[in-house]
Amino acid sequence: FVYICQQLIQSMKVQSTTTQQDDHFLIADYDYKSTNIEKNGDKYIAKPQITNFKFKTDTRIPKVGVMLVGWGGNNGTTLTGGILANKFNITWNSRRGTHQPNFYGSLTQSSVIKIGTCNTEEVFVPFKDVLPMVNPCDIVFGGWDISSLNLADAMGRAQVVDYDLQQKLRPYLEKLVPLPSIYYPDFIAANQGDRADNVIPGNNKLEHLNIIRKNIADFKQQNNLDKVILLWTANTERFCVEDPNVHGTAEKLMKSIESSHPEISASTIFACAACLEGCSFINGSPQNTIVPGVIELAEKAGVFVAGDDFKTGQTKFKTCLVEYLVGAGIKPKAIISYNHLGNNDGKNLSQESCFKSKERSKKTCVDDILESNKVLYPTEEELNIDHTIVIKYCPETGDSKKAMDEYIAEIFLGGRQTFAVYNVCEDSLLAAPLIMDLLLLCELFERIQFSKDSSEFQRFDTVLSWLSYLMKAPKSESGITTINALSRQRAMLENLVKVCAGLTVDDNLRLEVRYG
Ligand code: NAD
Repeated sequence: FVYICQQLIQSMKVQSTTTQQDDHFLIADYDYKSTNIEKNGDKYIAKPQITNFKFKTDTRIPKVGVMLVGWGGNNGTTLTGGILANKFNITWNSRRGTHQPNFYGSLTQSSVIKIGTCNTEEVFVPFKDVLPMVNPCDIVFGGWDISSLNLADAMGRAQVVDYDLQQKLRPYLEKLVPLPSIYYPDFIAANQGDRADNVIPGNNKLEHLNIIRKNIADFKQQNNLDKVILLWTANTERFCVEDPNVHGTAEKLMKSIESSHPEISASTIFACAACLEGCSFINGSPQNTIVPGVIELAEKAGVFVAGDDFKTGQTKFKTCLVEYLVGAGIKPKAIISYNHLGNNDGKNLSQESCFKSKERSKKTCVDDILESNKVLYPTEEELNIDHTIVIKYCPETGDSKKAMDEYIAEIFLGGRQTFAVYNVCEDSLLAAPLIMDLLLLCELFERIQFSKDSSEFQRFDTVLSWLSYLMKAPKSESGITTINALSRQRAMLENLVKVCAGLTVDDNLRLEVRYG
C-alpha cells in the first residue's frame, strides 16, 4: 500500500473539467458551500448557499532566502543545522545508535493528506506533494543576532543538538555569522545584556531601519534570490505601549521611527524593514510587533504578515484537549499550567515584563473553543474559567522544557474529570520544523491568488491567518474571528491546499466506501 502511494505521489494529476494547468499556473474552480444564518426572534433560519471561487497557483518554484532575527539562538541554530543535516544527509551517533536526519514535526514534510480512495482503500500523500512547494534544503539562510558567535559555537551554547551532530555540522556552521542587530535593552530582559556584543551602534531608529533594509537588499542580491522572508525568533519582548498616534497608521509609524520614539520596538523595526523591502514578515514571539501601521505598510507592499508566537508543545496540546472536551459536551472549569525551562528563552522570560507577553498569548488560546458552546457556557461569567500560567527559569532543565498542566472538567451530574498532563517539550526540536513550515507555507501562499464569483484575481489578506495552526495567538484580519481549535486549524490548511490543487474537500462521510 505504501508502495502504491509512493507511485501516486510521483504521478498525481487531477483529471477534472474544473481544473486547468499550463506551464506557469494551476487554476482550480471550487464551489464553496456555506450556510447563511439569519435570526428570527429566538429562531435561527439556515440558508445554504454556494459561492464560486477560483484558485490560481503559480507553480514555478522560486529561489528563496530566509533571514532570521535571533539567528544565533536555540531555534535559529537548530533550524539551520537541522536543514543542513538533511541537505547533506549527515548521520551521527549517540548512545542510542546511529541517526539519520529527518523532518519529524514538520506538517509539510512529515504529515500526509488523504487525496481520495482507491477501490475502498484511502490514499494519502505527503502534504508537500499536493501543491508545488519549495524544498527546505534549497532555502538560503541568513540573519541577525545581538550575539556575535558563529552558528557552530552558538549551537554549542544552545545545548540542543547531539554532540556528534554538532561536530559534523561545525564545518558548515562556523562560516555562518549573524549580522549585527538592533538592541533596545528596555524591550527584553536585562539579563540578556551579557550576550549583546554584536549591536548596531547609536540610538537613531531611522538609521537602524535603513541599515536593516540594506542588509536585506544585499542578502537578496548576493545570493541571487527571487524572494526573501523575515522571521522573528529573537527574545520575547515586552509589549510596546500601543498608541494610535504612534503606531496607528503607516505614516504615523514612519514618523515615530524618524523621531526614535521610545515605544518603537526592535521587532517592529524589523517588520517595517521587511515590508519596505517587499518581504513577508512572521513574528514567532508573543509581543505586539505587528501594530496597525505595520499592517498598512505590508498591505501597500503586497506582502504578508503573520503571528504571533509559535504553537509548539503545551499550547498545541491544550488546544487539542480542550477542543476534545468541549466537543464531547464536557465542561472545562480550570486549566492550571506550570512550566519550567532552563534555556535562554526561559532566562529572558524570568523578567516580569517579558513573561507578561507570554502569559497573554498562552491564556487566550482556548477562548473561541469555550465561547462556541453556549450549552456549557451560557453566561460570560462561566466563560471566565480558572486559567493560570506559571513559568519558572531553572537552568538545569536546559531546552527540555517541562510543562505540567492540570485540567479540571465538570461531567455528568456534577462529577469531575481531571487530567494531569506532564509534557517534556524539547523546545527547539519542536520549534525548528514548525518554523520551517511557517516559511514554506507563507512562500506558497505568496504564489496563490483567488477570484470570487468571477471577480479579478487577488492575493490573500495581508494578515495571513491561514497559518493559525502554527501560532499560539493567531493574528487575524480585523473582523475575522480567531480559530484556536487545533483540528479545525489543520483541516483549514489541508482543505486549502486540496482546493487549490483541484481535489475534493473531505467531509469524512465516506459515502463512496459505504455505498460506492
Ligand atoms: P533564544 O534565547 O535561544 O534565542 C533568541 C536569540 O535572539 C538569542 O540568540 C539572542 O541573542 C537573540 N536576540 C535578542 N534580541 C535580539 C535582537 N534585537 N536582534 C537580533 N537578535 C536578538 O530563544 P529560542 O529558544 O530560540 O526562542 C526564540 C523565540 O521564540 C523566543 O521569543 C521564544 O519565546 C519564542 N518561542 C519559542 C518556542 C519554542 O518552542 N522554542 C515556542 C514559541 C515561541
